[in-house]
Amino acid sequence: MIANTPLIPVLTTIDTVRSVVRERRGTVALVPTMGALHGGHLALVEQALNHADTVVVSIFVNPLQFGAGEDLDTYPQKLEADRDALAPLQSRLDATDPVTARIVVFAPPVAEMYPDGQEITRVTAPAVGALFEGASRPGHFDGMLTVVAKLLAIATPHVVVFGQKDAQQVFLVERMIRDLNIPVRVLTHPTVRDDNGLAKSSRNQNLSEGERRSALALHTALSAAASESLNGPPAMRAAGHNALEQDSLVRLDYLEIVNPQDFLPVADDHRGPALVIVAARVGATRLIDNEPVVVGAPY
Ligand code: AMP
Repeated sequence: MIANTPLIPVLTTIDTVRSVVRERRGTVALVPTMGALHGGHLALVEQALNHADTVVVSIFVNPLQFGAGEDLDTYPQKLEADRDALAPLQSRLDATDPVTARIVVFAPPVAEMYPDGQEITRVTAPAVGALFEGASRPGHFDGMLTVVAKLLAIATPHVVVFGQKDAQQVFLVERMIRDLNIPVRVLTHPTVRDDNGLAKSSRNQNLSEGERRSALALHTALSAAASESLNGPPAMRAAGHNALEQDSLVRLDYLEIVNPQDFLPVADDHRGPALVIVAARVGATRLIDNEPVVVGAPY
């Protein structure tokens, strides 16, 4: 099925994605998303447009990566608004005919992706997939990797684009692509933030006014940790924790300094590239963020 709006064709079946990709000349980029698109997603789409002729934006809230009691049922779903958000990018390209449109959305129903339910073959993340996000969300990364593997098999892109905001996700996707010899190039895009520093996230829509103010504590904590980069990991951890303890609405899940090479916590005497990662609950909403630093160098 191809439902045409003036600017953004929305494909809902795997077969139509395959035939659109087959019929087109040139390169294809895939931008996997769960929808409720914001400026962070749009930056990924712009980057994809710079690297491929056709950009497939998948919009799929993947039940496989949500655990019992998580926010699958309240996750924002706004396909019409998402089309509207993408339309200005398409119209700028002077290619608004659905047949030649450079941006197409793939928004399959759950039954299209999982016709046999959840009793399916899955990708298993390596051990680091059980840390941090994986510790708080058991099975999350297996579900995420499984749907990314499916989307790559469906769209067969030359390039796939991910946001650095989900740093552990990017790390694991790059590992999967290497481990399973999947022929695709991974591009990453830096985290896009609101003017006040809050990382853009679809889940921000679920924050009240007050919670939105409290959510800034994540960015404040990352900055506090990063500003101690000359003093080493223990000082960075202490500064980050201290910043998060200032707001009673924020419940810390983890704040850690990890090595980008293996995504494991760095030793106290670590020097060189590192990533400060943080996850916290603000009211009922769980948020994550991270900041790259060089330990031993001024921030
Ligand atoms: P999601 O819809 O949350 O699954 O995210 C889809 C893609 O957008 C992932 O690659 C995310 O890392 C990326 N993304 C989400 N938020 C941001 C942001 N604020 N900046 C950059 N990329 C983002």
